[in-house]
Amino acid sequence: MRLFDTLSRTERELSPIDGITYRFYCCGPTVYGPAHIGNFRTFVLQDVLRRTLETGGIRTLHVRNITDVDDKTIRDSQKAGQSLTEFTTGWTEKFHTDCEKLGLLAPHIEPGAVEHIPQQIAMIQTLVEKGHAYPSDDGSVYFKISSFPGYGRLSRLDERELDLGKTQNARSSTDEYEKDSLSDFVLWKGRKPEDGDNFWSSPWGEGRPGWHLECSAMIQEYLGDSFDLHSGGVDLVFPHHENEIAQSECACGGHFAAQWFHITHLLVDGGKMSKSLGNLYTLSDLAEKGFTAMEVRYVLIGAHYRKQLNFTLDSLSGAREALAKLAKSARQLAAKIEPGTVLTSADFGPFQSAWDSLTNDLNTPGALGGIFTGLRESAKLTGSEPAAALAGLNRLLRALGIVLPETADSDCVEIPGAIKVLAETRWQARLAKNWAESDTLRAQLAEQGWLMKDGKTDYTLEPAGN
Ligand code: AMP
Ligand code: ZN
Repeated sequence: MRLFDTLSRTERELSPIDGITYRFYCCGPTVYGPAHIGNFRTFVLQDVLRRTLETGGIRTLHVRNITDVDDKTIRDSQKAGQSLTEFTTGWTEKFHTDCEKLGLLAPHIEPGAVEHIPQQIAMIQTLVEKGHAYPSDDGSVYFKISSFPGYGRLSRLDERELDLGKTQNARSSTDEYEKDSLSDFVLWKGRKPEDGDNFWSSPWGEGRPGWHLECSAMIQEYLGDSFDLHSGGVDLVFPHHENEIAQSECACGGHFAAQWFHITHLLVDGGKMSKSLGNLYTLSDLAEKGFTAMEVRYVLIGAHYRKQLNFTLDSLSGAREALAKLAKSARQLAAKIEPGTVLTSADFGPFQSAWDSLTNDLNTPGALGGIFTGLRESAKLTGSEPAAALAGLNRLLRALGIVLPETADSDCVEIPGAIKVLAETRWQARLAKNWAESDTLRAQLAEQGWLMKDGKTDYTLEPAGN
């Protein structure tokens, strides 16, 4: 699979550095409120990347952190009159519920910053010892960007004619700032009265870690000095990822991430989302308007990740129609399969071009278009061909994380043809004592929202969660 790399500005073939597992890190949510659909554009695309790698037979290790201590979480926990832990735990749970609804695979490891304070202090100590960081009078510690010649490569600061020499006396104690205010950035923030109870002891006195450092320390803990891919929304390129590279490469000496995957921001009605404009949507807001999480997911993958995606409520209605059409065509394809046919998915059949789009710089709109073309071609298939085509379609839908609606026009639970075929195939595998295949197919059914219950002589199918 090929993917554009922000650092080299070229498309590169993805393969695990260690030859075994593709290890990647995604900057996770700051848990001070519900995630909005812009955040989810980024998380959904990262999920599609992982699913595509896995569908292509590559094992993955997916680490995504929870930012549970920073300026915003502290400020808003105080406003809510809750302890930081109580406050961030509530929002983390809400985030997990939304992720599940959107069909996001849970990361293999999901570390929180508060649980990794000793690792962060140790990294700062290394940076101070190596001359890359210095304490200030108020008990804070800053990273000296002029000590790292590679500073600015990711965000191409040289193209903006910013001179590292000019930063000698400039310091920023806030976590977020613009490129124009290039400065030494804070690794450890000396305790301030407004931090309340949220401080920890360190060699520089009481305080708390800076946001950029959290990710560097957790990456070192779970992925080591070098790993395959790092990802986030495009707003993280500067300063967050630039600062992570500086901290990690100076502390660990290695080459940090082999590849960078940044997702372009989602716009709403052609502009930036903001609470004050009343156009900041969460999954719950859209559910109240009657839209399902799968419809939201469909819209979010409907544009290429390097292009702007302009979200409108109309696009959700379009997604509803497209999903219903897809489900109907899949049912028609399943109906052409003779009972008892085993679904094998060695290739993608008429959906090959859809798969090629996905592995070519994660072209999700191309893949969706390819699915509709493949379905049209499938209408002509005969004999054993429809079964192979359906298997290919199912693999593609899994890679995109799309679960088709059960019925387009009725509330009663009707089992889709594709699910019936999958269940029957699994039952045959079970009768043949082919346990591995039986387990895989059971997992596939579960992924598509169906629970298969085995009896002695027969089985039942139920929507999962009932
Ligand atoms: P945050 O919770 O603000 O730390 O953001 C979580 C993730 O969402 C980060 O990878 C951000 O870059 C990303 N993000 C924030 N806003 C948007 C947006 N409008 N479109 C796409 N991604 C976004
Ligand atoms: Zn990060």
